[in-house]
Amino acid sequence: MSVETVVKVPLLIAGEWRTGAGSDWIDVTDPATNKVLWQAPCATEAEVNEALAAAQTAFKLWREVPTPERARVMLRYQHLLKEHHDELGVLVAKETGKTMADAKGDVWRGIEVVEQAANVAALMMGETVENVARGVDTHSWIQPLGVCVGITPFNFPAMIPLWMFPMAIACGNAFILKPSEQDPMTAVRLVELFLEAGAPKDLLQLIHGRKEQVDQLITAEDVRAVSFVGSVPVGQHIYRTATDNLKRAQCFAGAKNHMVVMPDANPQQVVNQLVGASVGAAGQRCMAISVAVFVGSAKDMIPALRDELAKVVPGVYTDENAAYGPVISAPAKQRVLAYIEQGKKEGANCLLDGSDCTVEGYPDGHWIGPTLFTGVTADMTIYQEEIFGPVLCCVEAESLDDAIELVNANQYGNGTSIFTASGAAARKYQHEVEVGQVGINLCIPVPLPFFSFTGWKGSFYGDLHAYGKQGVRFYTETKTVTSRWPEDDVVHASNMTITLK
Ligand code: NAD
Repeated sequence: MSVETVVKVPLLIAGEWRTGAGSDWIDVTDPATNKVLWQAPCATEAEVNEALAAAQTAFKLWREVPTPERARVMLRYQHLLKEHHDELGVLVAKETGKTMADAKGDVWRGIEVVEQAANVAALMMGETVENVARGVDTHSWIQPLGVCVGITPFNFPAMIPLWMFPMAIACGNAFILKPSEQDPMTAVRLVELFLEAGAPKDLLQLIHGRKEQVDQLITAEDVRAVSFVGSVPVGQHIYRTATDNLKRAQCFAGAKNHMVVMPDANPQQVVNQLVGASVGAAGQRCMAISVAVFVGSAKDMIPALRDELAKVVPGVYTDENAAYGPVISAPAKQRVLAYIEQGKKEGANCLLDGSDCTVEGYPDGHWIGPTLFTGVTADMTIYQEEIFGPVLCCVEAESLDDAIELVNANQYGNGTSIFTASGAAARKYQHEVEVGQVGINLCIPVPLPFFSFTGWKGSFYGDLHAYGKQGVRFYTETKTVTSRWPEDDVVHASNMTITLK
């Protein structure tokens, strides 16, 4: 495809779809072929400023729209997303390389958040206490903040934007979304459907770009809150910069998720689940299991695990037999391959090496086969750093206490699981482990949106563990009103004309 004929990813600024006025363009490639799918513009400084100004104006009108009306937009949006579920799934699969099942799952988990946003009136109810002092009452209201910004990663191009803007907007805010430059067309379609659902045209702005555009957004005076999901160094940068500029910030970062296998666990269940949790989605899930900790004789399950992993074959999204797709890009593949080499150099046993992986008919795809290391120790680079590829590290521990100590000493705390037949072991693990999401006999314990999604230690920077239900608390401010009503005051509560002394 010549550059002239490449489809351009549009920006949405002040209610207008635009081509982008700048000269800096990003090639968005198909991870299975490395061919350019479309090109995304890096928004210019003037375009970002225009988006900020439009969002501020839109907020002033939108915050006055009654909460049930805002909720109705979400209801219509949820309906449209469901209607377009398959089409969105194909778009996600094209941009990310995910299998169709994974891509549709990505969209579905987002739809569930929109359902929660449609319940916003109930979630925004305040609190009241009568007679906090003699004749004095207090009630609280939950009010929107203003302009909020969301910066999202490549690995869930539907779910993660949908974690952010529906809840923020349902609460009465305006929103500026900067999706990943590696798969921005999914966000375009999500926004198109949002407008079709009846949202005011200038309430949601869509900006594309990289660090420069992000930095302009998170330092802008009008921005009140920043939500970020992505890698650790970028999360730390965004948290530091946003808070330094006195914004509310919530940054979900990387992970190294451990699954502890007790000797009494069901071996078949362990092997089946571990295969999907470690190499599914090419290991590019923030909740993927990248470390399996075998306690005592549980290590006898490793040969069966190796045999099952060896049967797993990656492929393109149109291939129903593909277990997972390519990694997102050539640099991502190079990074994962470098980790595999480093693991071998540092003395881990590579029982299964996926470095040299090909898929027939797709010679330029970013393929990596299932890779399994045993004899991994806590000082190795492959144990310490997030690899974000289909690579599983096996560690051995003598006891459950040792396993817990290992998990708690790890710098990350996104997700973890334990497989055991013992209620006492499971209870001890869930109580003592310092990780946000814990699974017992299930390995990717992502809560539904009527719970919060959290992250501990280096997996999260910010003071409000949010999304789902608690998203409302992030995108709002609570105001308490304390009142005294002397008997001679004029009070027309029904039409809200209230005279206070
Ligand atoms: P990334 O950090 O490279 O990019 C995320 C976003 O930040 C993108 O929109 C990108 O344009 C922007 N960005 C990149 N560099 C920047 C910079 N220097 N300054 C400002 N903005 C910048 O992450 P990714 O590779 O797209 O996503 C994978 C990472 O996301 C993994 O580390 C994964 O664990 C993490 N993740 C975490 C969660 C979670 O909930 N904790 C969920 C999904 C993904």
